[in-house]
Amino acid sequence: MPEKAACIYCGIEADLSESDIIPDALTNARITNKNVCKTEHNNKFSDLFESKVIKALAFITNELDVKSKKGKNYASYPAKVEIAGVEYEVSKTSDRSIFDGRVLKSTDKKYMMSSLDNLKRIVKNPEEVEFLDVNSLMIEQKISINLDIYFCEEMFRMVSKVAFEWYCAKNGVSGYHQEFENIVSYITTGQGKNPVTIIQNAELYKFYEKHVDLGSHSLFVFQGKDNKVNVVFSLFGIAMYRVIVADKIPAFCRNNFMHLELRTDSSRKEIIKESYEQAKSFFESELANKDNFVEGPIVNGVTLMLGKQTMNADVIRYPFVLDMIKCLAGIHDDTVVFNKEIKDILLHNINNITQASLLHKKAIKRFVKEYFYEGHEPLKLNPFSTNKKTTFFLYILFAIGVSGIETIDDSGLQEIAKSALCLGADTEFVINNEVEKNMREIIVNTDNYSEILEKGADVIKEWKE
Ligand SMILES: [Zn+2]
Repeated sequence: MPEKAACIYCGIEADLSESDIIPDALTNARITNKNVCKTEHNNKFSDLFESKVIKALAFITNELDVKSKKGKNYASYPAKVEIAGVEYEVSKTSDRSIFDGRVLKSTDKKYMMSSLDNLKRIVKNPEEVEFLDVNSLMIEQKISINLDIYFCEEMFRMVSKVAFEWYCAKNGVSGYHQEFENIVSYITTGQGKNPVTIIQNAELYKFYEKHVDLGSHSLFVFQGKDNKVNVVFSLFGIAMYRVIVADKIPAFCRNNFMHLELRTDSSRKEIIKESYEQAKSFFESELANKDNFVEGPIVNGVTLMLGKQTMNADVIRYPFVLDMIKCLAGIHDDTVVFNKEIKDILLHNINNITQASLLHKKAIKRFVKEYFYEGHEPLKLNPFSTNKKTTFFLYILFAIGVSGIETIDDSGLQEIAKSALCLGADTEFVINNEVEKNMREIIVNTDNYSEILEKGADVIKEWKE
């Protein structure tokens, strides 16, 4: 292992930079590799393959409140919206942005739609203008989800880059090494054997979904039965990519049992061990360690042992990671092309993301900023609207307003939300049509609901960034 820091792609020692292992626009939780040269193997990758993927996933990052720290806005994506029976094609960054100072042209080019101020400037004959109250309109949006992006070369190269740079970072790899010849060639030029396949086992996705937060990225490293170094990268929990980083474990890489979860609220969970066996025996010794437990109640003559609060929180994660890796090592029917199985899996996972609202600080602050800006009109609810996310956030603001509290923090927010939604401690907020209808009715059936929403929004505004 050379002493000096050098690029893991080409070996040069000059002009090194910190590479974002997962592109900045695709995660709120940054991970980096410092041994990547600036121009050739950091900046260029963005044009070569990352930007196409980032653009294609804009709808997903938008739904998950993930955005680049460099950019001011969330990524925009194309959508079709139907307003009062007319279809318009729009580029959206949020639900609110449809009307933001722009002029929409209907798909059949017969209608234009905009705010009154804007239209006064561009329309010569006022009789041609019809007034619509946005608050009482039914706005339906249609997003076409194109699954091709999950199977294209740009995605495979980006996923290879994530796997390779992370494996190297966690093993302190510096400089170019022959052991990584194939993956380096594939990432930098697209030549060589594609090291990526996609896991298409629906049962495994279901198991994974239960243990990992919605919208998280996660990584697993292990040695396959054929000795190859496997890195499995789960992209937003939508697709799991298996990347063969090397044909056998390089002598200078010790850590070959690893797991990382990167959540949308920017928190993370990490496990680093040398091998499956080492991880397993570590977990067993933690279980056997009496210091980790206190004696609980005696039931039927058996003393129940309870985990101490101080017990290393990561230990609880071991059974999931050990099981996951055991399954991943035993599965050999991966795909690289579109088929019925993988299509169903991807659509199920994308649906999960759009159906569940993620309640965290960044998301609710973003919502308040968009809807409760300086000088806005009192908010009226559209009785026919079917926007689950909007209704959900309004309902939370309503609950905050009703509670009368003046300041809020993360746990306060979770508590208010959970009691308002009558949920248990670890339940995810999944909103179906019925739940949404109930929430909307509770709000509109309260006389001064606009004021209550305003109060709730003020509490969120006061919450420091
Ligand atoms: Zn380089």
